[in-house]
Amino acid sequence: MREIVHLQLGQAGNSIGCKFWEVISDEHGIDPTGRFHGDSDLQLERINVYFNEALGGRFVPRAVLVDLDPASMNSARSRPFGQLFKPDNYVFGQAGAGNNWAKGKYTEGAEIADAVLDITRKEAEGCDCLQGFQIIHALGGGTGSGLGSLLLDKLREEYPDRIICTYSVFPSPRTSDTVVEPYNCVMALSHLIENTDETFLIDNEALHDICYRTLKLAAPSLGDLNHLVCVTLSGITTCIRFPGQLNADLRKIMVNMVPFPRLHFFVPGFAPLYSRGNAPYKALTIPELVSHLFDAKNLMCACDIRRGRYLTVASIFRGRMSTKEVDEQMFNIHDKNSSYFVEWIPNNLKTAICDIPPRGLRMSATFIGNTTAIQELFRRIGEQFSVMYRKKAFLHWYTGEGMEEIEFTDALKNLNDLISEYQQYQDAEADATIEDEFDDNDVGANDD
Ligand code: GDP
Repeated sequence: MREIVHLQLGQAGNSIGCKFWEVISDEHGIDPTGRFHGDSDLQLERINVYFNEALGGRFVPRAVLVDLDPASMNSARSRPFGQLFKPDNYVFGQAGAGNNWAKGKYTEGAEIADAVLDITRKEAEGCDCLQGFQIIHALGGGTGSGLGSLLLDKLREEYPDRIICTYSVFPSPRTSDTVVEPYNCVMALSHLIENTDETFLIDNEALHDICYRTLKLAAPSLGDLNHLVCVTLSGITTCIRFPGQLNADLRKIMVNMVPFPRLHFFVPGFAPLYSRGNAPYKALTIPELVSHLFDAKNLMCACDIRRGRYLTVASIFRGRMSTKEVDEQMFNIHDKNSSYFVEWIPNNLKTAICDIPPRGLRMSATFIGNTTAIQELFRRIGEQFSVMYRKKAFLHWYTGEGMEEIEFTDALKNLNDLISEYQQYQDAEADATIEDEFDDNDVGANDD
């Protein structure tokens, strides 16, 4: 078995994480008491990737729930699936992180980091063959961002050969009124660049736009945003949770999707998108599904995909459908849009199909794109960071927690370097291949 240890950090991490467990428990036939009530062996075949099997056939999430104030823990416990989690795996402080990355990384967070690592280690030691860790957190606050950065450093040090994957919520002024979010986000990004193998960026700005424009919700709540996130997370993890071939574990995703180690930030997407509780069993055709999937409006990052190029793309289709038709449609979309895919990575569009659809839909598709357009997100946050930093605004909150100013400039430099790297590969032309050169020199060599 190739197990994953899951950590959910801070308010956003716990809200999204709890919902993630509800969705996947339901898909695997696990009820709120941890019993299996499914109807297919496929639901159990790879159940150990995310669940431990306890005495009496009870399934328990391999999850660690962490926050620096107890509120989100209490609300996790009181949810319908709250009793599913192991009581020992809740770790929380009392003081909160006050939306301050430095409190999460150096002071309040540092106090509980060892407790989190002890539980995480215990979970890892109980695994047959640990594939790695997944972390759900936000980048704009203090706990998910600051304590998240600290835990990433420690996990990387202790498990250098295991995969670390994060689902990271990117801040937007549309969903938050905390002015220091750009500071927290840039500091955390700097740790993500160094210490994760794959990061799925979930941009609150894009989620808000989808809710408002596509789902026609006049004032989207965080619950509405999280609904979108969870259908997408369920889609991304499909190949990890159910038997199949492509991208069947975290390492395979990394090998297929990451051509250069630092460029491991993915744009996720989902189709079809309907509002919660309002998913009609609409007979969608495969061409429609594929065109929704590649529609920039359905992507969970607010960047203009047409201004960048795809390094790699993976798509995961769910439901009973003709493999041939999916392959044809994917070939067509690649063919018609070939200028948006770098030509120096052949076959950079991969497709997987899983028979089991998500609840409430006959078929769906999930998108994972490694695109150079993601630099727009980084530029957006870098600019917001810089305008405050030039005036040294709000710095005392951070230096007061023991942080050095140089950390700010180093983090911004790291981000700017990443932006340049994306730009460099966006502009890169395919070199003449060895074969081309060979053909030029040896015209007619194969004629006989
Ligand atoms: P922490 O507990 O200190 O890590 O702080 P939060 O998790 O509240 O992080 C703040 C950032 O996360 C802000 O950008 C918020 O807009 C965002 N956020 C908070 N809760 C949620 C949530 O439930 N869903 C989403 N999508 N974003 C959230």
